[in-house]
Amino acid sequence: MSQDHKILLSEKEIPRQWYNIQADMPNPCLPPLHPGTKAPVGPEDLSPLFPMELIKQEVTRERYIEIPDEVFNIYKIWRPTPLFRAHRLEAFLDTPAHIYYKYEGVSPAGSHKPNTAVPQAYYNKQEGVKKITTETGAGQWGSALAYACHVFGIDLEVYMVKVSYEQKPYRKTLMNTWGAEVFPSPSPRTQAGKQILSRQPNSPGSLGIAISEAVERAAGDPDTKYALGSVLNHVLLHQTVVGQEALLQMEKAGEFPDVVIAPFGGGSNFAGLSFPFLRHKLKEGRKVRCIAVEPASCPKLTRGEFRYDFGDTVGMTPLIPMYTLGHSFVPASIHAGGLRYHGAGAIVSQLLKDGLIDAVAIQQLECFQAGVTFARTEGILPAPEATHAIAEVFRQARQAREAGEARTILFNLCGHGYLDLAAYEDYFNGNLKDHELTDQEVKEHLSELAEYPLPV
Ligand SMILES: *Cc1c(COP(=O)(O)O)cnc(C)c1O
Repeated sequence: MSQDHKILLSEKEIPRQWYNIQADMPNPCLPPLHPGTKAPVGPEDLSPLFPMELIKQEVTRERYIEIPDEVFNIYKIWRPTPLFRAHRLEAFLDTPAHIYYKYEGVSPAGSHKPNTAVPQAYYNKQEGVKKITTETGAGQWGSALAYACHVFGIDLEVYMVKVSYEQKPYRKTLMNTWGAEVFPSPSPRTQAGKQILSRQPNSPGSLGIAISEAVERAAGDPDTKYALGSVLNHVLLHQTVVGQEALLQMEKAGEFPDVVIAPFGGGSNFAGLSFPFLRHKLKEGRKVRCIAVEPASCPKLTRGEFRYDFGDTVGMTPLIPMYTLGHSFVPASIHAGGLRYHGAGAIVSQLLKDGLIDAVAIQQLECFQAGVTFARTEGILPAPEATHAIAEVFRQARQAREAGEARTILFNLCGHGYLDLAAYEDYFNGNLKDHELTDQEVKEHLSELAEYPLPV
């Protein structure tokens, strides 16, 4: 077993294919339904929003999809990413557990998001698209797509959740640097935005609302398409470069993880890291526990229901079979902006329903405390989203210590927090609070789904 701190790969070891877990799931995902007719959606329903190649990737059961050379060459700018063994953190936690982390913060935008932004921009360019619209929460997706659109010469219009637009002005500047236009959402630029503003002029916004705005803009213009940074099957697919590299790196370290942990917003970084490991569980019965960590203030996986629900707030997207808190749910304004989403991707939801993955919800103070300890031991300041994974790693490491057992833990350090210093400042000044939903609140939001079909 290696005692190295860094486990690196060469450029030749960057994966040449994405791994599609739809080939190996015991129960396939249920189809998305048309919001009007409630019939399964076909490719033609999605073509106003997405290029055909991405629509194909959304539904294919082919196990491996070739990564185009143009995408591979851009991946080489930051891939392969390093895998670290957290020796100093292990010593601090006085745990027999071995802790490894895959670091995606070395990408241009500082997170895992460019792994899908680049292929999405590429396929749009291939099909002659001039402009893309999108939403962003904390600004990580918006900045990743701004970079990717700049690379391929496509215009980008970003609807940024208003609370993040105000809390995180530097992400907007980053998007502007790469040439994108950024608007706080809800905005008066769309019917969806106007509708929300008329009811709630001070709405902090939510990812669901921003998606409604971006989708509306794309649907109304034949030269414009829409891009989503998480949730959809093709997004999860692109992120599997992360886990395929990590699999190879863990092999070089002479280990296979007992536990794989990642923060959970819509499921893309969790899927990206865990699916290549989960494949060994599905195909060979290898033991590996994959844990998605969500904020206690937005607990769709642990307290939501598996239902058909919209991906956006206004109800313009297809109905997706997913764990959800209801599409009108607006999470508390916690700093982990990327985790403030009411639903979860269809694939991850099906896997959770089938008991093949696990989920936990953690309060933000425990997460920030873990994030600060991580920065003090390992040096890197984690994104607030990533601190959710770290908090669960701490729990696992303590359990291993109490049980006196070896345990190999791998987690996704899916982004750095250097543009989230305002969040850390709030934490140090004691301005952050824990927040948990009451059962009554959960029930009220879910009751809005009564009129939609049950996923059976
Ligand atoms: C967007 C984002 C998330 C949440 O989205 P997923 O699709 O669940 O990965 C988590 N962490 C970071 C750093 C992000 O940028």
